[in-house]
Amino acid sequence: MSFETFINFSYIVASILFIFGLKMLSSAHTARKGNMVSALGMLIAIVATLLLKGIAFKWIVVGVLIGSAVGAVSSYMVPMTSMPEMVAIFNGFGGLASLLVGWADYHTQFGHVLNHPESFRFDTFTIVATYLTVLIGGVTFSGSVVAYLKLAEKFISGKPVLFKNQHLANGLLLFLLLALGAVYCIHPGSGYAYVALVLIVILSLILGVMSVIPIGGADMPVVISLLNSYSGMAATAAGFVLRNNVLIVAGSLVGASGIILTQIMCKAMNRSLSNVLFSGFGAATNAGKGVAYKGEAKAISAEDCYLILEAARSVAIVPGYGMAVAQAQHAVRELGELLMANGADVQYAIHPVAGRMPGHMNVLLAEANVPYEQLVVPEDVNPNMPAVDVAIVIGANDVVNPAAREDSSSPLYGMPIINVDQAKTCIVLKRSLAAGFAGVDNPLFFKENTRMLFGDAKATVQALVAEFKSK
Ligand code: NDP
Repeated sequence: MSFETFINFSYIVASILFIFGLKMLSSAHTARKGNMVSALGMLIAIVATLLLKGIAFKWIVVGVLIGSAVGAVSSYMVPMTSMPEMVAIFNGFGGLASLLVGWADYHTQFGHVLNHPESFRFDTFTIVATYLTVLIGGVTFSGSVVAYLKLAEKFISGKPVLFKNQHLANGLLLFLLLALGAVYCIHPGSGYAYVALVLIVILSLILGVMSVIPIGGADMPVVISLLNSYSGMAATAAGFVLRNNVLIVAGSLVGASGIILTQIMCKAMNRSLSNVLFSGFGAATNAGKGVAYKGEAKAISAEDCYLILEAARSVAIVPGYGMAVAQAQHAVRELGELLMANGADVQYAIHPVAGRMPGHMNVLLAEANVPYEQLVVPEDVNPNMPAVDVAIVIGANDVVNPAAREDSSSPLYGMPIINVDQAKTCIVLKRSLAAGFAGVDNPLFFKENTRMLFGDAKATVQALVAEFKSK
């Protein structure tokens, strides 16, 4: 077997492991093993790549040291509640890495043309791949930085930023990027092409910002998964630049799975992708700010709450972002077990966009060892909701807001929710009557059958656990 065949064979093995690993991630039972299988694939791919000729080990060691230090420190420092922002910025770094690969490749080729003007010929395929790598990588990087800032609610509002002629400005940017791409690809050896590529980098970064600022509120999950997909596409393009088969396969898998996730998120919001990307949150339904709900929210104590729960035979627990903030998942699992021991049928109803990243609630509940069989999706729990004795809402807000069903002026109108208001009793655990991420008031708090258990979710769930244990 020649050396080249050996490397390609290793890449095929790595790709097969990626595909099997990904498949195993689709079930909670096999997900852990799937992660290991994919990691093994990545190890094989890295070792095979390092065996290639012409590898500058000195720079690789420098990169590994700096990257590992930054990665280790930031992972250590980041609070659990900021994981979604961290995931968003990691997507962005993937895009930036691809952009730099594209840039470096062109820079090297341009150096060759200066040194050997008569003999050096650009490879058109690589030039087009470089253009796409820089373009998609740039959009992914700056778009992810904006998504990070929006999620962290730092410097930029989490709400959509809309201005007059926004579509025109974006269209113009796109046109300029295509025109510059043509200049770059047609005469890649000219000084114009070099300037064009610099402009392509700058404009792609601007396009990333411009494409993400109009998205906000409850639509953010869509942009997170879309940027994840872009980072995969940028990696695929970088794979074509480097002629590296495993990078092409890995990038395509990320790109394709990101698109599938984007579709799932759009379905969860009951929106089309174009609607999310171009309308601004709430604009799709010509919605206003929604009705401002006033009334008396009925507060309840943990002791009284216990009396209701003690008599319940069927309970739906609905977690949301507040459970992540409070890190209440372990206490929630304990409460679930006590309810079951008391004879109640317990289900955890998970909305696809609950929390701040796709799968956020699933990850937290899995960490607390909640059996996967007890997790249900809105489509399964909603038809039975009128028969549920108690729905316990733990730090969820937007995903249980009945205005999405009842108030056509609400920005959330049309989004499928978990119908906790239709349970016989609904107990909401949160600290105040404040709105959720979308900034929309919630009429649930004022419904006849709703009781508010105010406080930090971990403290209030622990108080309920203590009530059960003391009896
Ligand atoms: P929400 O953001 O709607 O509501 C969370 C609620 O948790 C808040 O109203 C807050 O109320 C409460 N809370 C915060 N801290 C605590 C605490 N320590 N103890 C108890 N309660 C607490 O969350 P949902 O999960 O219902 O909805 C997710 C929202 O985020 C949706 O709009 C979704 O579109 C969006 N989003 C989702 C992403 C994803 O990928 N899943 C990504 C980006 C955005 P109070 O302050 O009164 O306690």
